[in-house]
Amino acid sequence: MNVEELASTECSTEKLAPLARQIAQTLIASLPATDIIDISDHVDIVGGSTLPYLQRTAGEAFIAAINEAGRKPQLVHALRTLPQQYMVYYQYIHHLCNIPLAASPGTSPHERAIAVDLQDHESSREVLARHNWVWRGQADPPHFNFHGPQSADFGIEEIKAFQQTWNDHNPTDLLKVDGSYGPKTESKLLISPVAGW
Ligand SMILES: [Zn+2]
Repeated sequence: MNVEELASTECSTEKLAPLARQIAQTLIASLPATDIIDISDHVDIVGGSTLPYLQRTAGEAFIAAINEAGRKPQLVHALRTLPQQYMVYYQYIHHLCNIPLAASPGTSPHERAIAVDLQDHESSREVLARHNWVWRGQADPPHFNFHGPQSADFGIEEIKAFQQTWNDHNPTDLLKVDGSYGPKTESKLLISPVAGW
């Protein structure tokens, strides 16, 4: 099954997890270790394809809020890779799966690793706000954005990570690794296997 087939037939991103993890590993390997933080020890993961990574400053602020609250939040999404963002955006624009709001692929704060979706969002709003994590409001209740210091180029690296992962496994059909989400990159994204390579 490929990304396009999954997006049009299922709500859960669970089957996409192997491909998402493969792209995340390419991304993490391409970045200095100081740029990204693994928050998995500080949350209960409840999403089907959760990638528990954030930009370091955002992640450290998130962990400080959790320590202050003294309770692990239920994490659905932190970082998202291109196929995950494609899938939630597809569902959003086709009015499927009760997706309240989603940014187009390449433009989401999740792809910049400065956003989280929490299943138990109501109980975390005040403590997160004290650490620069701002609730998106009723338009997208699970969603919080980090408003503190961050790298603007992280999203470019996330798109490059998909392009590089594609190239690693399709050496006769190469994409330009430019961090730009255009029609050619999208055409390869749609036919990428959800189980990864
Ligand atoms: Zn979100």
